[in-house]
Formats: sequence, C-alpha cells, structure tokens
Amino acid sequence: MIRQAKGKTPRRPPPKKPSNTQKDPVGVYCRVRPLGAEDEECCIEVISNTTIQLHAPDGLKANRNGEFKETQYSFKKVFGIKTTQRELFEDVAKPLVEDLIHCKNGLLFTYGVTGSGKTHTMTGSPGQGGLLPRSLDMIFNSIGPYQAKRFVFKPDDKNGMEVQNQVDALLDRQKQDSQTTIPKTPTTRRIIDPEFADMISPEEACRADGVDEDSSYSVFVSYIEIYNNYIYDLLEETPFDPIKPKPPQSKILREDQNHNMYVAGCTEVEVKSTEEAFEVFWRGQKKRRIANTQLNRESSRSHSVFIIKLAQAPLDADGDNVLQDKNQVNVSQLCLVDLAGSERTSRTRAEGSRLREAGNINQSLMTLRTCIEVLRENQMCGMNKMVPYRDSKVTHLFKNYFDGEGKVRMVVCVNPKADDYEETLLVMRFAEMTQEVEVARPVDRPICGFAAGRRQRNQAFKEELTRRLEERGGPVDGETPTILSQLLQSFPPMPPCEISGPNDDVTLPRLIDALEKRHKIRQMMIGEYNKTANMLKSVLQEQDSNILSKENFIQEQRGKLCEKDKMIQNHKNEIDRLEKKSKMLEYKIDILQKTTNIYEEDKRSLQQELESREQRLQREMSEKRRMEARMQGIVTDAKLKWEKECERRVNAKQLEMQNKLWVKDEKLKQLKAIVTEGKTENRQPQRPSREKDKVPPKRSASPSPVPTGPPVRPLHRRSHSAGGERWVDHTPATNVDLDTVMQPNIPNAIKVTAPSEKALSKCDKYVLTHQEVASDGEIQTKLIKGEVFKTRGGGQAVQFTDIETLKQETPVATSRKRRSAETGPAPQGEPMEGDWTDVETRCSVAVEMRTGSNLGPGYQHHGFPKRKKP
Ligand code: ADP
Ligand code: MG
Repeated sequence: MIRQAKGKTPRRPPPKKPSNTQKDPVGVYCRVRPLGAEDEECCIEVISNTTIQLHAPDGLKANRNGEFKETQYSFKKVFGIKTTQRELFEDVAKPLVEDLIHCKNGLLFTYGVTGSGKTHTMTGSPGQGGLLPRSLDMIFNSIGPYQAKRFVFKPDDKNGMEVQNQVDALLDRQKQDSQTTIPKTPTTRRIIDPEFADMISPEEACRADGVDEDSSYSVFVSYIEIYNNYIYDLLEETPFDPIKPKPPQSKILREDQNHNMYVAGCTEVEVKSTEEAFEVFWRGQKKRRIANTQLNRESSRSHSVFIIKLAQAPLDADGDNVLQDKNQVNVSQLCLVDLAGSERTSRTRAEGSRLREAGNINQSLMTLRTCIEVLRENQMCGMNKMVPYRDSKVTHLFKNYFDGEGKVRMVVCVNPKADDYEETLLVMRFAEMTQEVEVARPVDRPICGFAAGRRQRNQAFKEELTRRLEERGGPVDGETPTILSQLLQSFPPMPPCEISGPNDDVTLPRLIDALEKRHKIRQMMIGEYNKTANMLKSVLQEQDSNILSKENFIQEQRGKLCEKDKMIQNHKNEIDRLEKKSKMLEYKIDILQKTTNIYEEDKRSLQQELESREQRLQREMSEKRRMEARMQGIVTDAKLKWEKECERRVNAKQLEMQNKLWVKDEKLKQLKAIVTEGKTENRQPQRPSREKDKVPPKRSASPSPVPTGPPVRPLHRRSHSAGGERWVDHTPATNVDLDTVMQPNIPNAIKVTAPSEKALSKCDKYVLTHQEVASDGEIQTKLIKGEVFKTRGGGQAVQFTDIETLKQETPVATSRKRRSAETGPAPQGEPMEGDWTDVETRCSVAVEMRTGSNLGPGYQHHGFPKRKKP
C-alpha cells in the first residue's frame, strides 16, 4: 500500500504503521502446457496437484552413462494441461485482486522458457483470456458502481495521488473532451475490436467481497517494456512520423518519498471499464509489436510489465463526494509481469548487437535469480547480505515487494517437450528456490474516521427524495418537499387570487399579504430546520469523535499486539539461537568426551607400562642384592686368604732375617778363623746350635755352597728329550677359584703357591697362573710361561717365553669385577706377590736363585726389563 504524503492539517493523528512481522513465502505455481502437435517426447509428468516429475529424455540418458534420472519438484499448486484459464485465475490471481481492492500490493509474474506459455497464461487469447484481462474484469466488477468521476483522482508525477475538487475535475474532463477527436467510449459499450474481443465471457465474471462502499475508486494503468535493461513506456503518446520514426525514449526509475520505486514520467491512464483498460493494454501491445519489428528486436527477450493502480479515498461524511484530503487517499498496485524467456541462449540465432541484447536479457534474469538467492540466504541464515536489486531494472523496480511488503506470486510455465528438458530443469530449480523466500504480509488498511454506510444512506436519501417528489408531482419551485408539507397544509389558506378587474385593489395586496405571511413562516421554519440540522451535526460529530477515539484505542491495542508479537518473535529467535548454541555445545562435549576417552586410554597404557617397569626394577634390585651378597662372600674369602698370606710372608721374612743373622755369624766365624788360623788349622766352623735347630729345612734345601764346582754355561737350555718336560706350576694362593670348566692341566707338574729354588732346580719349565681384571671388568687369567736356566752362580733363572690368556665372560659384567682397593696395598719388599694385578711388572721379573753366593742361602729377585722373544 502506498501511503500518501501528509497534508498540513491532518484530520486525525496518522495511524502508526505497525511493522509487520508476519511473512508469507512467495507463492510459486507451476503450469504445464500441452505438447505441441509435432513434439512427441514428453519429459514431465504431473504426479499430484502439488508435484511434478521430470525425467531425462532418452538422448540425454545415454549421455549420462545410461543413468535413469528422475527429479521431483513441488509447488504450491501444479496445473496440468487441462487447466482452464479460469481455474488458474481463481487460484492464482483472484486473491491478488482482492488484496488490491483492500489496499494491498501484489506482484504476479510468469517465468519460463520461450514457448512455455507465459504470454498465454498472462494475456491469453480471445475466448481464453489470461490472468490480465480477468484481473481487470474482476476489478471493475467489484468497484464498478463506486468509481469516482474521471479526474477526481489525479496522479502527481511523484508516484502519489491527489484528489481534485468537483470543479477542477469537471474542467479537466472538458479539456480532455475537447482534445480528443474521437468520442469517448461509453462504459456500457462492448469493445468490437476482434483482436481482443471476448477475452472473458460474462458468465465467468468475478467479483471481490467486502468492497468498501463508502469509498470512491479509480483505476489507472501503465504498461512498460524492459528491453536490454532499458525501460520503455508503451502508453506514451508520441506524434507519429511515418518518414523518420523516432526511436522510443527510455525511462528511468525513481524512488518516491515512501521509498517505493516507480518509473519516472510513465503514462498512467485512468480507465473506467474492463474494455477500456484492455483497449489501452492492446494499444501498448501493438506499439510493442511495431517497435520490435522496426528495431528488429526479439520480443521473447523483453519483459513486459502491466501495472494496475487502484486509488481509493473515503467519501465525505454526507457520502456525497470524495473526501478532499490527500492523506486519506490509498493507492495499491498490482503488477503483472510477463518475463523474458529464461533460456540461456537465444532460440533464434543471436548475432551482433542482438547477442549483446540477449546477454543483457539474460543478465536481468540472472540478477533476479541472484536477488532471490541472496534473499533466501539472508532469511534462512539470518544474514544481512546486500541484495543486488539495482543490478537490473526488473529487480530494482520490484525491490519494494521483497524488502517491503506485498504478496508475490509466480507462475512457472513449462513445456513438457523433451527438447526443453535441460532448460526446464534450471527453471524448476529456480522456482523451488523462490518458494523459500518470504515476503512481509501487507497489513490491513486503517479505517477512516467516518461512520460506515454513508454511501447507502445518501443513496437511500436521494431515492426517498425522488420518490416523494414524484408523489407530489414534481417539486414546486423554491419549496422543499419534506415531511413538513403536512405542516404547510395547516397554514392559513390562500385567499382567492382571481383578480376581478383592472381596478381590483384588494386581491393583489391580500395575496401579497398572505404570501408574505407564508414567507415569514417559511423563513422561520428554515431557521428551525437549520438549528435542528446543526444540532444533529454536532451530535454526529460527537459520535464521530467517539468512534475516532475508539478506533485510536483499537489502533493502540493493535500496536501493543504487534509489540507482543515482536516480543514473541524475539523470544522465538532467542530460543532458536539458544538451541543452536546448545547443539554446538553438545557437539563440543561430544568431542571432549572422545578426547577424554583417548587420554584415559593413554593413561591406562602408560600405567601398565609403569607397572611393568616397576616390576622389572624390582627384579633388577633383587638381582643386585643377590649379587652384593655374593660379592660380600668373595670379599670375605679374599680377606681370609690375604690374612693367611700375610702370616706366611711374616714367617718368611723372619726366616730371611734369621738367615742373614746366620750369614753374619758365619762371616764372623770365618773372620775369627782367619784371625785364629795359625792357631787352629782345618778347624771346621761350628754353626751355632741355635741356627742349626732353627732352620735345618732351609739349609738342607739350599744346595751346598761348592765354590769349586764345574762351570755352568750361561743360559744353558736343558734338553727336552731327556725324560720329557717338567713344569713348575706356580699358582699364587691369592688366585680366585673361578669355577671354570677349561682348566690348565699340566701332567707331572710341581704345584707351588710360591716359587722355590728346590722346585725350579728339578724342572725346566715354569708357568705362572696370573689373574687380573681386564678392561671390561672381567677377571682374566694369564698363563705366563717361561724356561728355567741354571745361572753361572749356581742358581736358577726363568726366562719368560709366552703368555696364554684365558678369559671368561658372564652376562653380568660387574659381578666378578675386582677392585684394586679391595685387595689392599701389596706388602713392600715382596716382588713375586706384590702388585699382582700389574702383569707388566710380573712379566718383567726374572727369578734368580743362587746357591753358595756370598750372601748365603736365600733367594733374590732382580727386576729386568721384559725380554723380547728372539
Ligand atoms: P511464451 O510466452 O512463454 O513464449 P506462449 O504463451 O507464446 O509462450 O505460448 C506459445 C504457444 O503455445 C502459443 O501458441 C500458445 O497458444 C500455446 N500455449 C501455451 N500454453 C498453452 C496452454 N496451456 N494451452 C494451450 N495452448 C498453449
Ligand atoms: Mg511470450
């Protein structure tokens, strides 16, 4: 509804336009036309009155791997091939016309490929009038008796409507009559033009209910064409120049003060009947056809828009005239749009400039699609994306329907022929999408502040007046035939008014007197009548204001209701939002649950590993304890051995010291003998009995000192053949028993724990079993072998010749490790068993035993550098 600008002194506070929250989806209907005679294959099937099914034609099926493709599309209603124009009108356009009459805007367009029946649906043909002639007919059938006189409503060139007073309207009518040479078509006359005659048969006439009879109506029509994104006015009267036809001038779009779009300077023709309106439409059609032929344009590429504007304003309080208040004028409009063919390429070959046009046409339909898409997205996802209405004239013109309010309906026309399949598929997709767009429902028109039934009262009054006048045989000049006529009869009777002669001075004055009396009475009565009328008026006005205040109250309540509605909507939105949020949170919880599970699994496996590692540690600890105990045992063993050894060495040392003492005694004796030589010749030296008793085994063990014995070759090697080899097997007592399987076994060996001269003298081979700690911590046993020689001094010497190494490995490397610290410091002056871990020292030691040396019995060790093997 297009509200008019406010006048300077509004009759009443303008009703607050309640913002409408109710929305309706765009009504999309589908009409399937019958197949043409030459088309055999059909690709559409009407399944129900809301669903159609598309199946790919044979040729296409083969292209798509033989895949049998069927798609179903649902609409508000599907009209099959047998649907009559009337049935279609009843369902699709009738509600829009009803809305129009009730001050609500509507938009109806047909969409489809060329030849699908858009024009047939919108315009139709004689005997089969389409939606347009039927809509016009319904409008005039409904408002016919209530139409205002021509030029009472006058478009103001700014998309608004003014109300003219009776005189101005009359002047305009006279002006038009003088300009038009052709006599005006009387509204009652049927159009004879065969091209558009009989669009609707009278028995099909439709009429809207609830037409406000207290209003006056006027219909204006405009007809425009949008071609190549230019708007042309098809009703513009241009002087026709047959020699050089002027190309039509394009129009521009403007926004009125209510932000509605309109075609600036577009012709709006006031029409008073279906026929007149249709004649105007036909004029536009003809003009369009001529322009298309002249400019070589393709009509299927243009959009045609037929706009029906209905202006209505309340009658004044007397129900006599249209209220002279622009503020009270309501203008609603119904746009009937026959869109260009939706096919992607021109059906006829598009070349040169036509190609560009084709592109533009497609562009505008593309923009329409984009707008619908964005609207849908915005509405469904609560977004606020800019809708590109301005990208094309078609969408720009209808912008208000989508972002304002109104009812939008679309008839999707389809031709079931297989050739159109691919295009039809696109049409179906667009149509389905369009159904998801919602448009604000138009609100009801506020009621004007007058009592209803004014027109009828006025009518009744007029009828009554006429009747009474007729009863009285016509009104007496200057007299008002009212109920007061009875009163008149009670007036003093008229004196006889026949004049007797030229000198009759009585009759005339008497008559004058009587008439003057009557006149006085009449004046009085008029005064009385006026008083009463005024009183009545004030009462009426009071009631009017009463009604007004009630209406205001209603309006207020309505506003409150709207607010409540809004609140409810807000709550709903909030609930929606919260629901979405809770869903989101649930999803998050789900994810967290899963993560927790994974972590718990991890934890469990780690705990298991920890336990197994602890067990292993326990095992290793107990192993270690066992090992420690074993080592403890070994250490105590070694300690015991060492103690014994120490004792033994102390003894040996004592013996040596005794020997030395003995030698000194001997020397003393010899000295004494030398001193007393002369006195006692060949006297045998006597050993002190003490010495003799104390160490007899040692002395006997030592070879007797024979200084005159045969000379011995140095380093004489004994013969190996004589009686085989004999070994001195020297195994120090400190050696640890290693429990080895492979033991050196030397037959006939003399086993000693310390080397003795006696044993050496009997043997020619010497072996020392030496233990030491290897670099890996294991004890390794070396068999150090040597040969025994007699020394020149009569002693024995060993020359080392080779070393055999025996080594044992255990998995626990540390178990047999011996620490040098545990062994304690080797006793000084004990070369043989000294630092026994030091094999270097060991190997570089030669043992020399001397007998008969001047040092007496005993042995002496000499450290030599290790001899190299020859
Ligand atoms: P469009 O305007 O979509 O290009 P038209 O309305 O001009 O298509 O239709 C092409 C032809 O098909 C016309 O001759 C028309 O009479 C015919 N036609 C279209 N729809 C129907 C229908 N529902 N019933 C009978 N004929 C139809
Ligand atoms: Mg057409």
